[in-house]
Formats: sequence, C-alpha cells, structure tokens
Amino acid sequence: MTIQIDIFSGFFGAGKTTLIKKLIDEKVYSKKVTLIENEFGEIPIDGAFLKKYNIEIKEIKAGCICCSTVGDFTNTLKEIIESKETERIIIEPSGVGKLSEIVKIVRKLEGVYDINLNLVIAAVDVTMYEEFVELFSEFYEDQVVHASTIILSRTQNVDEDELQKVVARIKTINERASIVTTPWDDLSGVELIGLSEEDGEQILVEDEDDHDHLHDHDHDHDHDDDDHNHDIFSSWGIETPKIFSIDLLKSIFEGLKDESSFGKVVRSKGKVQVDDVNWVEFDFVPNAFEIRQSDPDEIGRITVIGHELNKEKLVTVF
Ligand SMILES: [Zn+2]
Repeated sequence: MTIQIDIFSGFFGAGKTTLIKKLIDEKVYSKKVTLIENEFGEIPIDGAFLKKYNIEIKEIKAGCICCSTVGDFTNTLKEIIESKETERIIIEPSGVGKLSEIVKIVRKLEGVYDINLNLVIAAVDVTMYEEFVELFSEFYEDQVVHASTIILSRTQNVDEDELQKVVARIKTINERASIVTTPWDDLSGVELIGLSEEDGEQILVEDEDDHDHLHDHDHDHDHDDDDHNHDIFSSWGIETPKIFSIDLLKSIFEGLKDESSFGKVVRSKGKVQVDDVNWVEFDFVPNAFEIRQSDPDEIGRITVIGHELNKEKLVTVF
C-alpha cells in the first residue's frame, strides 16, 4: 500500500497549523496519520488535540529540516515508512523551511520506497504577501515557487482588487500552481484537499540548474548553524504567571509594530491569564491580532518571532 505524503509549508503566521487542524478536525484523513513537525520558536499543535484524533506526532526540534537537521529528518521519514504503521504522512516544516529542499528529500525516497508525494501546499497570508516577499524573499519565494497548491489565508480581510493583485504577482513566479482564494471558513477540508489533489500531476519536478540559480541554498550539512541563512530570524519566549488585561495585550501588540524599537516582529503566539479566572490564546501577525477564550493553564506562555528582534526591549513590555 502506497504511503501518501502531504507537505504543508507556509511562512510564520500564514496559518499552516490552523489548516492542518481544520483538515484533521473535519476528518479529511480517515487513515492512520503521522505528523512530522519542525518548529522555529513556533508553538506546536497541542498534544491533546492530536491524541483525540489518534494522530502520531514526531517533532524535530534541534534545527531546520531543510538543512541543519536534514539527516534527522530523512531518518525519521524512513523509520515511519519502514514501520508500516502509517498510511499517510503530513510534513509541517517551520516558517522558514525551504520547500524546495524538503520536496527534494521526499523525491529521493520515492525512488526507494512505496511512497507518493501527494500534496505540496504553501499557505500564504494574502495581507502580508507584498511585504514579506520583498523582505524575506529567500525563504518566502521558495515556498511559493515550489508549491503545487497555494492556499491564501485571510482573503476575507482584503478587497477583490487587492486579492487579484496578489494572485497575479504569485503567478509571475509560479504559473503552474493552483491558487485557492476562498476564505477558509467557507470551504470544507474535503473541498480544499480536492482542489489540491486534482492538480496533483502538476507537482514540480526539480530542475537543478534552475533551483541553484533561484536559491543558492548552502547544502553543506556538516557545518554548524553559523553559515545557515535562517539566522536572519530569531525567536524569543517567556513563561509568565502575569495577568494581562485584554486591553493591555492589545496595546502591547500595537506597540510591537514599531520596528525601530523591537525589530521586525513577524509572528507572536501565546496563552495568558487575563483576570482571576479567564485565560486567552492570541495570534499576532502584523496585519491581524486575534484573541480567543481558552482553558486555563499552569503558566502563561508567549513566543515572538522576528528579524533583528530587540530581546531586551521585549522583556520590558511583557
Ligand atoms: Zn533550513
């Protein structure tokens, strides 16, 4: 039985975790699933959720699966395949994982095992596309260029002109991908997967020259992380018993948009106490700040990811 492999890539805050949770929650995956997660200061899908759906999870934490821990990643994949206990593997690279490299690794194993690279998805926040593709082109563009399906997020937050402008720009660097523009709440998981699988034949086969020309990714895995380009990003996090009011949270995050003080914050996520009994979870990207009620936890947690983060300054506001 051929094992299907789906890759869900996406820059920080584009919503790949939300997307995966949506698909699992809507029971799109009926078969035994193993999820390989690689984080860069990102908060993983909570264990309770995965347990509820009997999803096996393998976390690769020490580095990036497209470069510094490529060996771990390949071995993890092989072990999962050889164990024959799974029928579907979902790979969730970090926000800066190079999709081209991850596709290449899976393609290599396709020659050895009975596996099929099925979906190659990039989640892209339509409200941040123009800015991020300029600022972080090396990682950002790589995901857009190598995806066979691009699922735009937050399309409900822009008007039709803005949406079409971004679609047109994406097409200039990836004309073959299908682009999903429907707001996620209006689309079922089955429809989403269906849209992606119809175009399964279009999955790009790498052309080496083209790839090197585009990305110039250092492939020497034996070097330490110092010559590794993901270093332009850093993450900062705290665990805190502090009680934040909702208004305070809102004003802190409004303040974090000030790049000259904090550096470029691209993503933050957390769970904190807001009064004697209530807790919230929040998600921040530069164009959206979402807060929702949550269960209490033993301690509050906040992570911030960005470029040239001023960590001393962050400490002072939280
Ligand atoms: Zn990497």
